Amino acid sequence: MDFTYPPEAEAFRAEFRAWLDDHLTDEYRGEGLGFSMEMGPDRIAKLREWNRLLADARYAAIAWPEEYGGRGAGIIEQVVFAEEMHRSGAPGTLNPLGLSNIAPAIIAHGTDEQRQALLPRMLRGEDIWCQGFSEPDAGSDLASLKTTALLDGDHFVVNGQKTWNTLGHLANWCELLVRTDPDAPKHKGISCLLVDMTLPGVEVRPLVTITGEREFNEIFFTEVRVPKAALLGPLHEGWGVAMTTLAYERGTVANLHLGLRAKIRRLLDEAVDAGAARDPVLRQELARIYLEGELLKLVSERAISGAMHGRELGPESSIAKLVWSEAEQHLGEVAGDVLGADANTGTWGRDRVYMRALTIAGGTTQVNKNVLAMRILGLPRAT
Ligand SMILES: Cc1cc2nc3c(=O)[nH]c(=O)nc-3n(C[C@H](O)[C@H](O)[C@H](O)COP(=O)(O)OP(=O)(O)OC[C@H]3O[C@@H](n4cnc5c(N)ncnc54)[C@H](O)[C@@H]3O)c2cc1C
Repeated sequence: MDFTYPPEAEAFRAEFRAWLDDHLTDEYRGEGLGFSMEMGPDRIAKLREWNRLLADARYAAIAWPEEYGGRGAGIIEQVVFAEEMHRSGAPGTLNPLGLSNIAPAIIAHGTDEQRQALLPRMLRGEDIWCQGFSEPDAGSDLASLKTTALLDGDHFVVNGQKTWNTLGHLANWCELLVRTDPDAPKHKGISCLLVDMTLPGVEVRPLVTITGEREFNEIFFTEVRVPKAALLGPLHEGWGVAMTTLAYERGTVANLHLGLRAKIRRLLDEAVDAGAARDPVLRQELARIYLEGELLKLVSERAISGAMHGRELGPESSIAKLVWSEAEQHLGEVAGDVLGADANTGTWGRDRVYMRALTIAGGTTQVNKNVLAMRILGLPRAT
């Protein structure tokens, strides 16, 4: 059964598709032109051009309120938008983290000055943002973070280390979580700062992953003087700001099945070409991974349907993240069985090792299962 979208969503699809037909020329599309963590200046310049076209037409961040250059779009339009971007092969914006995670926190907790100074440049890809949350000893238990920011006149003085900062090597702004009251209980005494990464004392060291790419970074802060006006939300109440950011991060999961199912389709085609699709055991593996893709689609559609009926995107987003990340890893295993050594190089070779990160990023599988145990099964909190 196919999910039926309301007529307004289909009208939006037709309008956006026509816009893409007019604006998405070959210079912005195609192999090697999309967003990548390894972008050089030429590719960044090209993507920035594309980002500006999207922003001028109010397609760069359709979920943002209209007053900030968005369309105030609901979840169904966001899903349609993602489907059309995927179908057309259009590159995304330069600010995947900024637009979907950091901006909602700035809109909810920022001052008018912060919104006016930061949001338009983020929307047009003029600034690139990263998130400075995790530390070497604070990941799942984020509230254990130790990076300090102590007030000295009109400035915070920041010292400490962040890690796993996606895009940190390309970013010039960072949403940074710091401890401003070392004596308070650990969820209190945290604040959120919007930090200009060109300030003296900020040092970014790229981390090279198993794929050979620079995806994320360590960021060191040594006596960095950050103006007091960079505080986002009230002093010592950064935990609430962080939760706004993470709630939006989890809200993007409704589209995860698009990429997964496209990869499954590709593997099915390659299995036929390689003759593996006739093998009775491999056929079972292929059928199983196909079903995992379809299951994810149904979980996503359930979440969308709930949101259309006014239900918050709640446990479904944790379930979708779980199903998606585990299915991606199963897909890598099936690709290895079906394609043999050919799955060790090229796109499969890269994807099969990259997939290992997906059960960690954005909340680990184990932590997600604990959340589900409480929120869906009604079990008591783990000790
Ligand atoms: C691709 C990628 C991109 C990332 N991008 C960013 C970014 O841009 N900014 C940023 O700040 N961070 C980023 N991170 C970091 C990410 O948020 C953390 O890796 C994640 O929160 C887990 O923290 P950790 O690595 O410290 O592992 P830990 O929290 O130390 O966990 C280690 C193991 O213990 C398990 N565990 C921990 N606590 C519990 C528990 N209570 N119950 C059961 N099991 C538990 C975990 O599931 C895991 O298996 C990124 C990570 C990845 C992989």
